[in-house]
Amino acid sequence: MADCTQCEKHLSHDEIAVYRRLIYRDASEYMCKACLAKYLGVPEEVIDARIAYFKKIGCTLF
Ligand SMILES: [Zn+2]
Repeated sequence: MADCTQCEKHLSHDEIAVYRRLIYRDASEYMCKACLAKYLGVPEEVIDARIAYFKKIGCTLF
C-alpha cells in the first residue's frame, strides 16, 4: 500500500479511494486525508463525509 506524497504517512484503503474519486481516478500517487483536506482547503471532516457518502452510494473504488 502507498504512502502520502506530502507527509509520507501510510495510507488506508479509504484514503486512496477518496483521492482517486475526488482528484484523479488513475492516480498512482496519493495524499492522506489530512493533506488532501489541506490541499482542498476544507476541514478533514469533509473528507470523512465524502468517504461515507461514496460508500453509501456504492462507489466501486471503495
Ligand atoms: Zn499526508
